[in-house]
Amino acid sequence: MRTVLVSGAGIAGPTLAFWLARHGFQPTVVERATGQRSSGNPVDVRGPAVEVAAQMRILTTLREAATGVTAVRFVDRHGHRSSPVTPPSGSPGDFEILRTDLAAILHEATRHDAQFIFDDTVTAMAADEAGVDVTFERTAPRRFDLVVGADGLHSTVRRLAFGDHLIRHLGVYVGGLPLGEEVDHPGEVLLYNTPGRLIAVHPGRGEAMLGFFFRRAEVPDFDHRDPSQHRHLIIEAYGEDHSWRVPEFLTRVREAPDLYFDSVSEVDLPSWSRGRVTLLGDAAASVSLFGDGSTMAMVGAHTLAESLATHTPEAALRHYESEHRRRTDSRRRTARLSAALLIPRTAPGIATRNAAARLLSRA
Ligand SMILES: Cc1cc2nc3c(=O)[nH]c(=O)nc-3n(C[C@H](O)[C@H](O)[C@H](O)COP(=O)(O)OP(=O)(O)OC[C@H]3O[C@@H](n4cnc5c(N)ncnc54)[C@H](O)[C@@H]3O)c2cc1C
Repeated sequence: MRTVLVSGAGIAGPTLAFWLARHGFQPTVVERATGQRSSGNPVDVRGPAVEVAAQMRILTTLREAATGVTAVRFVDRHGHRSSPVTPPSGSPGDFEILRTDLAAILHEATRHDAQFIFDDTVTAMAADEAGVDVTFERTAPRRFDLVVGADGLHSTVRRLAFGDHLIRHLGVYVGGLPLGEEVDHPGEVLLYNTPGRLIAVHPGRGEAMLGFFFRRAEVPDFDHRDPSQHRHLIIEAYGEDHSWRVPEFLTRVREAPDLYFDSVSEVDLPSWSRGRVTLLGDAAASVSLFGDGSTMAMVGAHTLAESLATHTPEAALRHYESEHRRRTDSRRRTARLSAALLIPRTAPGIATRNAAARLLSRA
């Protein structure tokens, strides 16, 4: 087996292509976006992903691009800020980085060893025992020995190989956009909570970003590609709140040209592989916003490449899934707890969370 098509040049895709090339495979990466995707949300590179980055010799570059965030401040309705609270950290080597920066550095580390095709997508796949015939929107059809869907929560490869309706809404929606201003404290995130709602102001890397996280039952006709529906949902969730800078932030939402918005969801699949098609990263097991999504994307990619290099294809896919599913399953449980801590449902819940965070603060 030699040729591998990887759909998605986010976090998992380029990491997989890097390691496949190291093991003598010929990876091709197809990415729907024309360049890097606009979601600049912060992600964490933790524990085992730090180790993977070190082996790729990109750890220094990644650390230089880290956000440097070390603390949060709670903001009340009048705009009063608490003193900084430093959450207990994971391992000492962990760091936070903007997703776009991480994806760009991974792409740079891989681009000479893999073929990257931007502005294209898989449209059809016909698999047999030895490979997959793939049709693209723009590129001519090609046959690959293996296809890997690393194309995120709304994976096209997953839809084509496994069908629709395989993600489950976890009761939270998230929106994000650039705030376009510098912040007073570049190492701190501001958290403004009301019951079931959070607004986060993240310092980014010089230009702050706004995040809206709110609890809401599943919107029946939700469309992750419909910006006018997204604007409506955010304004509906926060429109009654006239405190702090909320009305000004909603004006930004109304005017934003590039609003990110999605449902916080988990993927529900009994198996990640079907013949010569497999899934990786958020496409396989979204551990979503509050967990270790990027860490799991990098570590899963490394595990998959190592498995393919040392087993027959069928055994490799089984080995990859049994190794990596254990990690993602345990992270999914933590992700639910993190959601409860970030978006308490009640005013007493917010007060208790803030008091506990101050108590546990390392500052
Ligand atoms: C607001 C927000 C906050 C987050 N916070 C954190 C955090 O604090 N910590 C953390 O670890 N994680 C966090 N995450 C999750 C993290 O971003 C993901 O888990 C991680 O990016 C998953 O990597 P991936 O490569 O699987 O998918 P992605 O990074 O989503 O990459 C998928 C790629 O596939 C491309 N694509 C999609 N469809 C197609 C197609 N049909 N054909 C070709 N390409 C396609 C996309 O354009 C994209 O480039 C957060 C996510 C969001 C949205």
